[in-house]
Amino acid sequence: MDGLLTRRRLLELGLALPLVAAACSGDETEALPPTPACADGDEPTPEQTEGPFFTPDSPERTSLHEPGVEGTELVVAGTVLATDCTPIAGALLDFWHADAAGEYDNEGYRLRGHQFADAQGRYRLETIEPGLYTGRTRHIHVKAQAPDGPVLTTQLYFPGEPGNASDGIFDPALLMRIPESGGAHFDFVLARG
Ligand code: FE
Repeated sequence: MDGLLTRRRLLELGLALPLVAAACSGDETEALPPTPACADGDEPTPEQTEGPFFTPDSPERTSLHEPGVEGTELVVAGTVLATDCTPIAGALLDFWHADAAGEYDNEGYRLRGHQFADAQGRYRLETIEPGLYTGRTRHIHVKAQAPDGPVLTTQLYFPGEPGNASDGIFDPALLMRIPESGGAHFDFVLARG
């Protein structure tokens, strides 16, 4: 564990140094580069079951809004990182989830879509909050893959959701963070090919 702690400590110091440098230079207008959080050390994001409702070949889109899709707006954003905490440009993210009534579209592609992370590994999904269905807490399914890497199938969860405690699949390591600025945040950590 010493190695992991040291790595984490170095990441913290890496975050702190630019702030100190900016303060010393007196140039407070200089924008700091975003520092991705990678508190997972060398562990990739945990895998979870695909469930029965995955449909391959989803359309490429970052917004799942379309006529007929109604519910509480939700934006999920974050960064896709490698296990060494470097961003993975062009990582594939394929999302699918239930509608506000807890129903999946198993004939078409409503609330299904894939996208590729940008050059800094960032992604942004515009959708609605998934509804609840029997036996599960609120969740979003996703397949994530670095270019030429293995596919990681997992699910994302909502903090404070009453059903989390009684859901046998729920994993707190897959909780999204809710920033003060709104929306939901999750950073993926993937193995490279
Ligand atoms: Fe599901």
